[in-house]
Amino acid sequence: MGNIKKVLIVGGGIAGLTAAIALRRRGIESVVIERNPAWSVYGVGIIQPSNMLRALASIGLGERCLASGRGFNGWRFCEANGAVLAEAAAFNVAGPAYPAVNGITRPALHKILTDSVLGQGTEVRLGITIETLHDSGDKVDVIFSNGAPESFDLVIGADGAYSQLRGLLFKDAVRPQYTGQSVWRYNFPRPEGFDWGCMYFGKRSKAGLVPLTESMMYLFLVTAEQGNPRMPGDQLGSLLRERMSEYGGLIAELRELVTDSSAVVYRPMEVMLLPQPWHRGRVLLIGDAAHSSTPHLAEGAAMAIEDSAVLADMLGANADIEATLQAFWERRAPRAQLVYETGVQLGEWEQAEWRGEPAAGAAYNEAFDKAYQVLGEPV
Ligand SMILES: Cc1cc2nc3c(=O)[nH]c(=O)nc-3n(C[C@H](O)[C@H](O)[C@H](O)COP(=O)(O)OP(=O)(O)OC[C@H]3O[C@@H](n4cnc5c(N)ncnc54)[C@H](O)[C@@H]3O)c2cc1C
Repeated sequence: MGNIKKVLIVGGGIAGLTAAIALRRRGIESVVIERNPAWSVYGVGIIQPSNMLRALASIGLGERCLASGRGFNGWRFCEANGAVLAEAAAFNVAGPAYPAVNGITRPALHKILTDSVLGQGTEVRLGITIETLHDSGDKVDVIFSNGAPESFDLVIGADGAYSQLRGLLFKDAVRPQYTGQSVWRYNFPRPEGFDWGCMYFGKRSKAGLVPLTESMMYLFLVTAEQGNPRMPGDQLGSLLRERMSEYGGLIAELRELVTDSSAVVYRPMEVMLLPQPWHRGRVLLIGDAAHSSTPHLAEGAAMAIEDSAVLADMLGANADIEATLQAFWERRAPRAQLVYETGVQLGEWEQAEWRGEPAAGAAYNEAFDKAYQVLGEPV
């Protein structure tokens, strides 16, 4: 484990919590600080592709995710009226005990991660952030927002796409950019026998349904929203219903069940890839703080969890912190870049098609296949 004995993790989301778990498995203690005093997450689902399940398995969390979620083999691709065009098994690299994909609610995943972190004895401080930090070469001196000072061997910024730490480390750092697309999500009862993920292609949007539990699934609807408008919270239900109106079949039936604006989760797609190494001295960024992608490949959280697993392996094996963090970036950056660039490209093709321009055709599917082939390779 070298010289790294005490780590501060800023951010108690997927990246920060998996980092705390992975480090602990390597005998490295951490303290997690989380700005949100309620430490809560929103209530829709998340897709866990096979490389995410492999990374979760490597830090002891794979089986718990399967037990709390709903595994499935792959995707059915459908017309807007529900007619099935094709069916494709998803890549499966997590081993015979695992399905290719697992759908899980975000609260269920959050509970698995928080239970693990608290259960292993990691200290979590809620409602706290960083006020200042000073890297003196052999340690980082931090002053927290409650005025308390403390020193750490390493600080990990896992504080999301709008990372405060990124701003402190890199004054001229890139900021998240809106891609022109947004995602609307809503939970529904899962019809019996609805055992695959399904994608539906409309003329000005695409929809997906993802099994989450025995009784639940969620819808994601991807639309183009010019100028990144602020959507009024109390109208989200009617705005979503309006956008679902180009669909027939099951999506049309589900449309009638969208009754609660407060249960609609709306997010603009915003992307950011830090072009330089993700560390400066003894402060490192991981997860969305370093690379935030569109959800086209469902790989944002997967990249965060891979970051955590790889970082813990490398810190556990190497004593030279600068060389380790540089090598970590060299190992992780190509995968993060692939996810980032593929997502942006897929989104541009979709928007062009929705504007009436020629469809990308085979290139669209090939982009998915190419990305998943690389992401299936060892990290
Ligand atoms: C519409 C949509 C759908 C998606 N679907 C998928 C999917 O199906 N599969 C997938 O793999 N990925 C998906 N993603 C991506 C995934 O949600 C993110 O990549 C993932 O949540 C990143 O985790 P993170 O921990 O890096 O950041 P975050 O989830 O943003 O967590 C950051 C945490 O840090 C805390 N924090 C922030 N600032 C501070 C501070 N200054 N001090 C202390 N704490 C702080 C926050 O409160 C938060 O708890 C999707 C994203 C979107 C937008």
